[in-house]
Amino acid sequence: MVFRTVLQVCLIWLVSCAPASAAQARIPVRVGVFDNPPIVTAAPGVPPEGIAIDMIRWVAEREGWQVTYVPDSFDNLLARLDKGDIDLLAVIAYSDERAKRFQFSQQSLLGNWGMVFRHAQADIQSLPDLEGKRVALMRGGTHSQALVELSKQFNAPFTPVYVDNFPQVLEAIAERRADAGAVNRVFAALNAYQPDLAATSIVFNPVFVHYAAPKHASPALLAALDRHLAALKADPQSAYYDSLRQWLEATPSSRALRWLPWTAAAVGSLLVLALAIAGLLRHQVRRQTGELLQRADQLQHEIEQREQAQAHLNQLAYFDSLTRLSNREGSRIALNRMLTRMQGTDERLALLFIDVDRLKNINDGLGHGAGDLLLQQIAQRLQSVLRAHDHLSRFGGDEFVVIVSEIGETGDAELVASRLLQSLAAPIDIGSTQIYSSASIGIALYPDDATSMETLLKHADTAMYQAKELGGNRFLFYHAQQTERVVERLTLDTRLRQALERDELLLHYQPIVALDSRRIVGVEALLRWNDPERGLVMPGVFIPAAEDTGLIVQLGEWVLAAGCAQLRDWQKQGLADQLTLAVNVSTRQFEGRRLVKSVEQALSRSGLAPECLELEITENVMLIMNDDVRGSLDRLREMGVRLSLDDFGTGYSSLSYLKQLPFHTLKIDRSFVSKIPGQAGDTQIVTTILALANGLELQVIAEGIETQEQYDFLRGQGCQFGQGYLMCRPQAADSLVAMLGRKALFWQQADVASVQQYAPD
Ligand code: C2E
Ligand code: MG
Ligand code: MG
Repeated sequence: MVFRTVLQVCLIWLVSCAPASAAQARIPVRVGVFDNPPIVTAAPGVPPEGIAIDMIRWVAEREGWQVTYVPDSFDNLLARLDKGDIDLLAVIAYSDERAKRFQFSQQSLLGNWGMVFRHAQADIQSLPDLEGKRVALMRGGTHSQALVELSKQFNAPFTPVYVDNFPQVLEAIAERRADAGAVNRVFAALNAYQPDLAATSIVFNPVFVHYAAPKHASPALLAALDRHLAALKADPQSAYYDSLRQWLEATPSSRALRWLPWTAAAVGSLLVLALAIAGLLRHQVRRQTGELLQRADQLQHEIEQREQAQAHLNQLAYFDSLTRLSNREGSRIALNRMLTRMQGTDERLALLFIDVDRLKNINDGLGHGAGDLLLQQIAQRLQSVLRAHDHLSRFGGDEFVVIVSEIGETGDAELVASRLLQSLAAPIDIGSTQIYSSASIGIALYPDDATSMETLLKHADTAMYQAKELGGNRFLFYHAQQTERVVERLTLDTRLRQALERDELLLHYQPIVALDSRRIVGVEALLRWNDPERGLVMPGVFIPAAEDTGLIVQLGEWVLAAGCAQLRDWQKQGLADQLTLAVNVSTRQFEGRRLVKSVEQALSRSGLAPECLELEITENVMLIMNDDVRGSLDRLREMGVRLSLDDFGTGYSSLSYLKQLPFHTLKIDRSFVSKIPGQAGDTQIVTTILALANGLELQVIAEGIETQEQYDFLRGQGCQFGQGYLMCRPQAADSLVAMLGRKALFWQQADVASVQQYAPD
């Protein structure tokens, strides 16, 4: 502390900027200043002033800052900012290069550009004339750098004469140490009016002037400056505009102090002549200032136009027009910026990868317009539960990404994820339709799971994929094993395609029984894969993957063909006269009206009557309902094929659709059956479904009957048909032959046991 005080006394010239009340000010702020009037002045022994200082003073009074000014050359101030010796630099032009070294205020103080002035005797009009001349430049200034670059481009290299600030640039020209010099337009408008100076037409490098802070400093100071500046700029009567008016429109006489000694001497020695010169000067100054201000206005206008065009381009490049959120590119930039900022700190960040469940169904069924509306509403809901500094973006079609910074414990990320899921729980109105939406969320943590942007995104995506595989509407944290599962899934697709070619698929059949007579009235064909490596693989393992990749369409066609051929074969053997074959159909088979064609083909090739075929379609078909799907269902019914609604009660059930669609049968999902008659709620659901089906004149099959109690209850409630392990597990075709020969099924304990013996399920 003592060391620091001594250092300050030795090196730093202290000037308190705040009024008397600042004695109680608590936050010490060291502001670097250099002589760059009228934005900032830093003459020895005088408190700094200028537009930048006015604004600092305004903010300091309101934020309780104790400001200490540190005057130095611009070059040295940049070095101090690097080391954190100062907290703020009062004036600095923004450049991408500098943005890597320092933090910049978002709000600019004003637009500015470079101008070249020449000695009245020097023959310099345009940029090529600078070749071989001596040009005074402020050391470290953006304009200085830009002019050097520009002269190289124009093949007009000059000899730079470096000085510490803009007043010294003019001095160098006046004393003919330089033929010309570059200053900024604001400085020029007020100071470049000496008789031995002349403006050239060289105007270059439009930039915006900001405040800057050290790279790793807390962003609080800049944030306060931004807040106040934004408010001040929004009000034409504010102190900001007062300051601009005061400094930019000031007449030379109001700034006469600096020139007073010279003027007084001149007046004293040659009064009459001085009066004449003063008159001439004033006229010349007014004319030059007027011209400069006019040119300044033009350039300001051009800058504003360029800024607007740039903003528009940014909007296109980094924002999503549908949701007005950042797009993939915008999101990556934000993430990269945060990760760079967090390097070397012990802060944590969570990346949440969100994928809306079943959006494709909604696009296919209700049209892309509805899909768009849904996405907009989802974006709003997600945004509504996030904190201001969390960053939500739309990453692609149905994907969103949330960057949650300042994560303490892992539980914080968990809380955000559950809030996001919860926000989607209530149905969303799209026109007259209500849509139930949900999402799958994968979470990866920085630095726990990865430190690079690409790997973090990859891990969050992998975890999301896993969440989706588990049925969606949930979140999962990333675990290393998940990557292996994704790879596994990709190879699964390849292996399934081979399975189809190599004839490794087969069907098992499960009897459907009339509960009253115990007769087998039908069989449901259930797909199995005889994988040479793993043995018999159940559909739960490979059907979801096949649905994702679209391979289900070919698999479904194979099932239809093989099932129809099998039933026809049994019929020919006299084993299945009254039997229906139930075949499961994925909603993806409806795409392109392909289903009707494949059914027609399977029937005609096998010679099976359409009445013997029943297609089991899950409730999700309601989500993809459009004219084509509706047309396919009607066409199938006209052909005589029976239609049943599978897994009823688990998915999207719209009673109005149920009444309109041409179904014959409802299959009550086994999740309800398994809990009856014990659990009141599920029992109630089952009796309601039975009453509903009765009212709509639909047949009902109860799935998954495992106990005699369930069987008796369902039969007592008027359910006509059932299917389940109690009666019979799914069987290979050969195993079922004996059972089909019997007139009725009797499942005594012994029977069940014997069935189970050869049942692979
Ligand atoms: P699903 O259409 O609801 O088929 C009934 C499932 O319940 C079958 O499982 C069957 O083995 C099982 N099950 C029957 N009775 C009982 C019981 O008493 N208790 C229990 N716990 N389960 C019982 P599986 O064969 O594993 O099939 C699962 C799902 O895979 C099927 O559900 C169906 O959605 C799908 N699937 C099967 N084959 C095909 C197919 O060829 N095409 C399509 N698209 N999906 C299929
Ligand atoms: Mg089924
Ligand atoms: Mg089912």
